[in-house]
Amino acid sequence: MYWNKEMETLRGDDLDNLQAKRLRWTVKQAQKVPFYKKLLNEAGIHADDIKRKEDIVKLPFTTKKDLQSGYPFGFFAVPKKEIVRIHTTSGTTGKPTVVGYTRKDLDNWSELIARNMTMVGLTDEDTFQNAVNYGLFTGGLGFHYGAEKVGMTVIPSGTGNTKRQIEMIDDFGVTALHCTPGYALHLAEVAEQMGTELESFKTGMFGAEPWSENMRKTLEDKLGVTAYDSYGMSEMYGPGAAFECPEKDGLHFWHDSYLIEIIDPETGESLAPGEKGELVVTPLVKEAMPLIRYRTGDITHIIDDECPCGRGDRIARITGRSDDMLVIRGINIFPSQIEHVLRSLPEVGDQFMVYVDRVNHLDEMTIDTEIKREYFSGELSDLENIQRKIVHQLRETLNIRTGVNLVEPESLPRFEGKAKRVIDKRGDKI
Ligand code: ADP
Ligand code: ZN
Repeated sequence: MYWNKEMETLRGDDLDNLQAKRLRWTVKQAQKVPFYKKLLNEAGIHADDIKRKEDIVKLPFTTKKDLQSGYPFGFFAVPKKEIVRIHTTSGTTGKPTVVGYTRKDLDNWSELIARNMTMVGLTDEDTFQNAVNYGLFTGGLGFHYGAEKVGMTVIPSGTGNTKRQIEMIDDFGVTALHCTPGYALHLAEVAEQMGTELESFKTGMFGAEPWSENMRKTLEDKLGVTAYDSYGMSEMYGPGAAFECPEKDGLHFWHDSYLIEIIDPETGESLAPGEKGELVVTPLVKEAMPLIRYRTGDITHIIDDECPCGRGDRIARITGRSDDMLVIRGINIFPSQIEHVLRSLPEVGDQFMVYVDRVNHLDEMTIDTEIKREYFSGELSDLENIQRKIVHQLRETLNIRTGVNLVEPESLPRFEGKAKRVIDKRGDKI
């Protein structure tokens, strides 16, 4: 199903021309921001130099640091009175970034969310529970207004009070859920304790943090939903910039609203489709806060082949952000890879925590992982076998030896928003 079939499946010259036109407009809009005016002047680039979308490589990059240097309103391209809403990033990597929206921006954003939800089969017949934080986090209001636009019955439940959330799902016949994958797991856990089947559930939309294919299996199994990956960031309006279609094989980036590139994070050089690197995004319709070649820090690759659904550009699931990457004794590891391994083992429970430290000048990684109750009560030798199996599987996949501690079910922290599963103490010791 399509919300805006013409735009979603636009191809060939029509798409190229639209993208080039919108890129030119974005450069003009950006020139209203003193930072960009100076940057583009210094680079000797004028909006009219952008004839084709490929000319994007002539433009300079923008980094998160640049945005932070403009705190709070330095990147707004319209007078303050035209800004009708402000959000901020969650500040995972330092000082939060402030983003502003004009009325038109909010309409554009809702349109994209409406496309995403329609793409996965949701309609005005659905009842939708939005179990994310409704404050400055873009996932709350962003999904909310998109779902209302589709005409769904929206329950702005927010996070927390998990038992009540589960009662509502049952009592109101909720069919669709949006939350972080971590919170979804927690919902499933509490539902199980309450002996509730969550029978009305059909569709789960999960995002805001990296998650793995095995996590998808777990969530689909436990919640009885088809689970879709939702990617976005405050700088690109919020969630919903890219979303999985029913093929569940990569996330479609809305090609009329964003241009995407992959670069080598070290050199800044463009990488070809299929090559893994840092995602760079240029929004094409943002009024209040236009951005040029924004370096997201997120690691992925572009999938080049045609998707059977007929929509355009696709990226692979995000493995993590470049600053999430752990370098342990020279080996690069993303927490999402650890999660993938752990979830492939039937004995492993819901949560884990990763501790990294430097012992005698050597990096040491230790993982605390919950074990399912039925395995936890076994013989000590059984537990030792499980532990050995986990260590072995992690070494096979990650090429590194890790310490593993088995802990009781429900003993590790649960997260309602973005999870923080890695505690790296190495920095404290330098
Ligand atoms: P912050 O950068 O402060 O966390 P945001 O709340 O805007 O600000 O979060 C955006 C970031 O969240 C993305 O850059 C990405 O790292 C992460 N993210 C969002 N959705 C996903 C997803 N589906 N998969 C992996 N990472 C995601
Ligand atoms: Zn598709």
